Amino acid sequence: MDTLTHTTNSDNHSAENVENFNLKPIPPEGIFSFSCHPGVSCFNRCCHEIDVILTPVDILRMKTELKMRSDEFLTKFTDFQNLKETGVPMVKLRMRENSNGACIFLAGKQGCSIYHNRPLVCRSYPLGVASLDPRQADTLTEGQSTEARFMIQEDMCKGHLEPKTWTLKEWMKDQGTLDLEKENKPWLEIVAKLKAMKIGEKQQREISLFIMASYDLDTFWQFVFESTFLERFEVDKNTVESMRSDQESLLKFGMQWLQYALFKEGTIRPKVNK
Ligand code: SF4
Ligand code: SF4
Repeated sequence: MDTLTHTTNSDNHSAENVENFNLKPIPPEGIFSFSCHPGVSCFNRCCHEIDVILTPVDILRMKTELKMRSDEFLTKFTDFQNLKETGVPMVKLRMRENSNGACIFLAGKQGCSIYHNRPLVCRSYPLGVASLDPRQADTLTEGQSTEARFMIQEDMCKGHLEPKTWTLKEWMKDQGTLDLEKENKPWLEIVAKLKAMKIGEKQQREISLFIMASYDLDTFWQFVFESTFLERFEVDKNTVESMRSDQESLLKFGMQWLQYALFKEGTIRPKVNK
């Protein structure tokens, strides 16, 4: 299973400070109580010493808000880390070395300085999602989903003691995660396939292509429009025009192209020389 979660990085805690946390499965119809607001005693505590893995859509939204190029954003605010036990590169938000390991976007008592474009895992917290390898989807019985939701219960988070109750759907709607999850799905499928292939450090070409099309969209734009790419691949005119000016379209195309470049699957094909 692949998981994208916002969890306390216990490696950064001293032994006596290590938090207890457990994961509780939440069924689709499950109800839970939770509320997070400036009045909770732990306000912003979860924005310190944590692993916040960014999705391609997160990076696109954040760098657009900050009016930065993607490569500049990656250098300034993130670090790379391979997905556990694989060579698949993930992008992690950088935490400060001082200020108790606060997230680089935490602006003191005012909270998250990028709140309207905060990453998916920050929106979802305290819920996490685990996705099955899409190749295992055939083994599911009718009505079963390729995703499982769970509640992350950490002692430090007092939001669990608040009386407000939610269904899973209400919470996801309130936090704006429904559309984000949908937009990230093609990328998660690629991650799951790379993981199943056990991609290793020797496959530098594949890793570089994955990084460029997933995380570094401004460089990918140059790759598409300032090289012989469009002479080599069949891409219809509308798609070319749309991705020239719209990076959401460019990202969608990038995921389709990765299916070809990494697995020789999908709809993108090289031009046939006549
Ligand atoms: S991006 Fe915002 S919400 Fe997420 S950890 Fe950083 S400060 Fe907190
Ligand atoms: S209630 Fe939980 S999510 Fe909200 S600030 Fe406190 S620790 Fe973070």
